Amino acid sequence: MSARAEIIPVFVPHLGCRHACVFCNQRRISGESCPATAETVREAIRRAETVPRVKKRELAFYGGSFTAIEETRQCELLAAAKAALDQGKIDAIRLSTRPDAIDERVLARLKAYGVETVELGAQSMDDAALTASKRGHGAGDVFHASELVKAAGFRLVLQMMTGLPGDTPGRCVETARRIIKCKPDGVRIYPTVIVRDTELYELWQAGAYREHTVEDAVSVCARIVPLFERAGIPVIRLGLNPTDELSGGAAVAGAYHPALGELVKSRIFYNRAEALLQGVKPGMRVMIEVNPSQVSQMTGQHRQNLTRLREQFALSDVKVRPAALEKGEIRISVIENGDAL
Ligand code: SF4
Repeated sequence: MSARAEIIPVFVPHLGCRHACVFCNQRRISGESCPATAETVREAIRRAETVPRVKKRELAFYGGSFTAIEETRQCELLAAAKAALDQGKIDAIRLSTRPDAIDERVLARLKAYGVETVELGAQSMDDAALTASKRGHGAGDVFHASELVKAAGFRLVLQMMTGLPGDTPGRCVETARRIIKCKPDGVRIYPTVIVRDTELYELWQAGAYREHTVEDAVSVCARIVPLFERAGIPVIRLGLNPTDELSGGAAVAGAYHPALGELVKSRIFYNRAEALLQGVKPGMRVMIEVNPSQVSQMTGQHRQNLTRLREQFALSDVKVRPAALEKGEIRISVIENGDAL
């Protein structure tokens, strides 16, 4: 999957964007302000070639609505990428775009230039949240575009957000369920961050939007991620990539955390342990066993999961240790106080 590929990003900040989505400022999110040209593509590939290739190398056009860019500019960028593909300098091309900027003619063009993966910014499958976010498309456009992309033989990645204006945790979970129905090959989840110089920032300052905190994001994503896992759909990204621009003050509030994905994984373990401990008597000692690679996720940052479980169930002790278990599996032993763990 592309999460393990080496990505050569080429940002096309806001090119082709027909609407100003309230949460978005790609110049601040990507840290790029210059529109990409064919030379930008060639230069990005030259830079990547200075280190040996150890995995699939993919050129990715991100940060705008690629297929809504003026056609001659699209072709200029795609031709530069295709030339590198034909020369074996890269292994694949991917791009992100809006669901209402997809039709058969557009997809035929992408096919001709060797594009492998199309990412669609669904953001939500709730029309009220899409309208409040000024996306300019509805959930129906996402279903339709997804069908076209898959029927044309591309890999499909869908991007969703949590905590948009007009969103609720229940609507986010429903968005995830509807995205699963589109059968994507992967998803990206971006909990809403309030970025400076956006309409959302103004709404938040005016008290018309309540911040989607890191805790809000962790809580709802810990409900959503298992749905994708059960459907066999990889979550290839969770949370905005940290950048100097965002960390330096552009991310004013909201769900911006450099280890958001880890926090969510840890919360999923907490939720599973909590469910298994229902009915356990106060004062008991508990041993939780997990796959060796997931001990830290079960333990949580600053042993937070274990402390919370101990307090919530009034246990005398909670420990975690590695065991020969499948990833995601949890085994719990409850021991009378006084016995050795
Ligand atoms: S979210 Fe996408 S379509 Fe909306 S402004 Fe940002 S790049 Fe453009």
